[in-house]
Amino acid sequence: MIRHDAIGHDAIGHDAIGPDAIRHDALVLGGGLAGLTMAIQLKRQDPGIDVCVLERRAHPVPEAAHKVGESTVEIGAHYFANVLGLREHLEAAHIRKFGFRFFFSDGRRDIDRCTELGVSRVLPTPSWQIDRGRFENFLAEEARRLGVHFHDGAVVRAIELGTNAAPHVIAYEHAGVPHRVAAHWLIDASGRAGLLKRKLDLSAAEIHNANAVWWRVDGFVDPKDWSDDPQWLARCTPPDRWRSTNHMCGPGYWFWLIPLSSGAHSLGIVCDAAMH
Ligand SMILES: Cc1cc2nc3c(=O)[nH]c(=O)nc-3n(C[C@H](O)[C@H](O)[C@H](O)COP(=O)(O)OP(=O)(O)OC[C@H]3O[C@@H](n4cnc5c(N)ncnc54)[C@H](O)[C@@H]3O)c2cc1C
Repeated sequence: MIRHDAIGHDAIGHDAIGPDAIRHDALVLGGGLAGLTMAIQLKRQDPGIDVCVLERRAHPVPEAAHKVGESTVEIGAHYFANVLGLREHLEAAHIRKFGFRFFFSDGRRDIDRCTELGVSRVLPTPSWQIDRGRFENFLAEEARRLGVHFHDGAVVRAIELGTNAAPHVIAYEHAGVPHRVAAHWLIDASGRAGLLKRKLDLSAAEIHNANAVWWRVDGFVDPKDWSDDPQWLARCTPPDRWRSTNHMCGPGYWFWLIPLSSGAHSLGIVCDAAMH
């Protein structure tokens, strides 16, 4: 996040930013998970803040196959549910997660004989498996309802960082038409696009080189279908291992299984590039 301090809006003539630039208090580049939640948090904290979010993709985005990042951890779930007040939506529209679960096969193929690391009872601290498409559609609607200027289908093309207390100016394109907006607060929530990181040349070398591939299948994959051992089946109450973020782990890789409320299962492999 970048801020230029010192003077209020009125002290900056429109000429400084161009007569066509629309002024806001805060500009958020990228309306994914981070950008939309940030905008909602700002508005909930102070409804008077004028927040503008620019998101490249057109809304509504598709369910089931929008993005990865579907398994919330408890601290993130706390932020969504309690800080942003979205618990009702999470309970109604997503799947309550049965914690993380890891299987280490050590060469075995029978799941009920693999080493299993995971909870046997539902944790008191909730977390959810989120369908990213469904969640981001909801967040966008919620942001607009709170008064955020959320522009979908808006591609950021250029960033002019303000100097000497001048605001930052963003050029973006929507439906082929160029626009300009300006603000003293600029928040880069563009994810992997790293708009400010690239602009300011902040990239750092990555020492752990990992690759990932992912896809979705219709319906749910339930580990209980892979065993008929009554003891193993009875170990979890409720017997809902399918609601966990299940990881099948081996040397230098894991394979993830995450159920999505839209009726699909998210599957993916993460592996160490040096080994696979
Ligand atoms: C393989 C893999 C698995 C993962 N699994 C998990 C998981 O299980 N749980 C978890 O918590 N995290 C997971 N993550 C991490 C998670 O995906 C990210 O942390 C999260 O999605 C980041 O959200 P974000 O809002 O920063 O980025 P994004 O959701 O990617 O949002 C960035 C937004 O910026 C927009 N944008 C980009 N360029 C422009 C532009 N020029 N103009 C306008 N808009 C632009 C994009 O369209 C996008 O919507 C995983 C990551 C990977 C790679």
